[in-house]
Amino acid sequence: MSYRVPRSEIHFLLEQVIDTPALLALPGHDELSLDLFYAVLDEAAKFIEQEVVPLNRQGDLQPAQLKDQQVVTSPGFKQAFSSFAQAGWQGLQHSASIGGQELPKLIGAIFHENLNAGSAAFALCPLLTDSVIETFSEAATQAQKDQYLPAMLEGRWTGTMNLTESQAGSDLSQVACLATPQDDGSYRLVGEKIYISYGDHDLAENIIHLVLARTPNAPAGIKGLSLFIVPKFLVHDQGAYVAGTANDVYCASLEHKLGLHGSPTAVMLYGNNQGEVGEGAIAYLIGEPYRGLEYMFITMNAARYAIALQGLAVADRALYSAHAYAAERKQGVDVARQLPAPIAIAQHPDVERMLQTMRALTEGTRAFSYQAAWLKDMALKHPDPVQRQEYQSHYEFYVPIVKGFATEMVNEVTSLGLQVHGGMGFIEETGVAQFYRDARILPIYEGTTAIQANDFIGRKILRDGGAVALDLVQQMRATLAEVKAVDKGPDVDGFALIARHLESAIDAYEQATQFTLANAKQSLAAVFLGSVPFLMLAGTVHAGWQMARAALACARQTQEGRSTDFHTKKMASCVAYAAFVLPRTQTYAASILDGQTVSSYSHCV
Ligand SMILES: Cc1cc2nc3c(=O)[nH]c(=O)nc-3n(C[C@H](O)[C@H](O)[C@H](O)COP(=O)(O)OP(=O)(O)OC[C@H]3O[C@@H](n4cnc5c(N)ncnc54)[C@H](O)[C@@H]3O)c2cc1C
Repeated sequence: MSYRVPRSEIHFLLEQVIDTPALLALPGHDELSLDLFYAVLDEAAKFIEQEVVPLNRQGDLQPAQLKDQQVVTSPGFKQAFSSFAQAGWQGLQHSASIGGQELPKLIGAIFHENLNAGSAAFALCPLLTDSVIETFSEAATQAQKDQYLPAMLEGRWTGTMNLTESQAGSDLSQVACLATPQDDGSYRLVGEKIYISYGDHDLAENIIHLVLARTPNAPAGIKGLSLFIVPKFLVHDQGAYVAGTANDVYCASLEHKLGLHGSPTAVMLYGNNQGEVGEGAIAYLIGEPYRGLEYMFITMNAARYAIALQGLAVADRALYSAHAYAAERKQGVDVARQLPAPIAIAQHPDVERMLQTMRALTEGTRAFSYQAAWLKDMALKHPDPVQRQEYQSHYEFYVPIVKGFATEMVNEVTSLGLQVHGGMGFIEETGVAQFYRDARILPIYEGTTAIQANDFIGRKILRDGGAVALDLVQQMRATLAEVKAVDKGPDVDGFALIARHLESAIDAYEQATQFTLANAKQSLAAVFLGSVPFLMLAGTVHAGWQMARAALACARQTQEGRSTDFHTKKMASCVAYAAFVLPRTQTYAASILDGQTVSSYSHCV
């Protein structure tokens, strides 16, 4: 099944919606330019379209297998990973100070969206390695950075994150893996981790596991967690064991899953006396003891944002297929009886509604996700420390929203994509059923939607008394004023519609924020009953805000006589977002604001 990365969309966002000039003006960006970004992204697109896109189906039909205690990945994965590594893609967005190419996170985000659209199962391995690299960069000692980072950046080694145990899923306070200190400063780690993505594979020479564990006599709960590095093969001599010795960590089995078959999901056993180092996996503490969860959050936040991109990517692939099918498949008569029957199904108003909804959700999520990456770039490099801090707090505010929204959105988009295909969608051969199955894990791993919502309410709304949320509401109102000011041109009605729905959506966002702040003390259960609706409300309005900015960009093109067919279609998406998606904010708000009454019946569940 073919797929082309959405080049025109990317160019439009970079040139007309995102403040790319501000990004290019950041210190250290003198040699960057849009032309350079396009050259890099074009090269990436070639690799993805030619080598990664075909892997998607292959991974689904021939999942990774465990053979003789070694995971063998799906056909083609090894070759594609070797091309990926040789081209240096793993280092794309990482700091030059650790050996990366230091392209902006925004360009990294676009690359990862495209790679995941090629094959989300394949892209999960570099995605996790990226997150592990981030953790090493921020929390490891210089010696550890020197030992581990170069090979990970070159794609010779990959990284994993090991949090989950059978009794410790969302609740990491129950993690029981035990790391016992040794006289030489290392640790011996024992325990079982489950659901570890790419816990074992044959793509790279070594696998560097980041493992959350507790030390003997550590405090109970999350305060007693520390983070450890456990290499599959030792990377330097350790006592009697030389570099390259097999550590005591192995994959006991692989899970059979609903989707994402190409990505091996492993049960990992540590300290089962299966390696060449005796009993207990040799492990190294990263950072300070008992700060494990804090360090793991570096990995998790990077991964949470990246999983949002997975959602966007799978949605785009589903949209691409649905569009192609709807143009080709002919059924029925035109409602106005003007076209010769049978007509392409795309011409039936309801199919048009489905395609427009898919497109609006995907494009809104893309604009929102790229805006988040832009905030991260500004937070990293803006010359003014006060501004840096402000960008950082906005970026952190965005992460749970974009993760929750994008990964729920993709389930709707892939379901609609299947519906557009009718019975053919339910038949595996078309491949669209795979998008639907693959998407289902995205709101579960890296923190379920409820866990994102808890983070959003607890850390992002309540902790600062709603300061960031209300600041963003003001910024949204400024855009709203611009939308309202469009009073001439061919899209006047479209702008009036966008203004009406955007205004109600912003009001709902502000109301939900005020409700949460006002009720947190006396009715916390009522507030949390509305946490996921609030998260979805926030995602819907944030994406809608970016779509309104996109509409304004289209109006500018029209005014300047530069409007193209692309802008006409983009304007249609912006109007569709306002008409079909933004009104959902009213339903979310209603269920949030009625939380108190509903929660008084909660004992009936
Ligand atoms: C394919 C796959 C790959 C994975 N990859 C990795 C990996 O690489 N590394 C890793 O460490 N883990 C990985 N995981 C584990 C994944 O992150 C967990 O499945 C996820 O965090 C949820 O934990 P759980 O499955 O135990 O569900 P539970 O925590 O038991 O949750 C069950 C339900 O209860 C809800 N719930 C739980 N607690 C709360 C709460 N406090 N507030 C509100 N609702 C709550 C959840 O939202 C969910 O709906 C993977 C899982 C899968 C299936």
